Amino acid sequence: MANSDPHTGKHWTTAYVGVGANLGDAGKAVQQAATQLAQVEGIRQLKLSPLYCSAPIDASGPDYINAVARFQTLLAPEVLLDTLQHIEQLHGRERPYQNAPRTLDLDLLLYGEQYINSPRLEVPHPRMHLRAFVLRPLLDLTPDIHVHGKPCADWVALCADQVLHRLPSAN
Ligand code: AMP
Repeated sequence: MANSDPHTGKHWTTAYVGVGANLGDAGKAVQQAATQLAQVEGIRQLKLSPLYCSAPIDASGPDYINAVARFQTLLAPEVLLDTLQHIEQLHGRERPYQNAPRTLDLDLLLYGEQYINSPRLEVPHPRMHLRAFVLRPLLDLTPDIHVHGKPCADWVALCADQVLHRLPSAN
């Protein structure tokens, strides 16, 4: 498929988004968020990883359901962030305090090969290489992916102590 849009000349960039939820029907929220993201204009070829279940880190509350979505996008990084925050709002996301339980959390993990450091956005996501619940689904989607210049599989080995269960797929 063409790598630039014939009307605008903009390039399609591969992006990865971490999807997590630990309130309400968390599995449903994760699947719905992926469907909503796939329907956004300027996003194509979205694939959602298998779902995982993990205990909260640095927080209390129910276990999380986590996954990663990979897709191609014409949206600029900050526009993509706006889109992610809009979808969080649709799921009734509130931020009463840091690391509070959440109906839906969407994090921009990777945007092509770009490093971004703006007041609103840090990409690669600053903690992604430390979290098994991000790295394992990322590896499922793209086994040869690198994070911070190192194979993702090497980072996974470093968080072997983090308990994570892969959920059976729905099909
Ligand atoms: P959270 O409450 O964990 O969803 O964090 C959201 C805040 O993190 C927002 O103010 C974003 O502007 C900021 N942020 C910085 N980098 C990222 C990123 N890569 N993905 C999502 N939010 C980010």
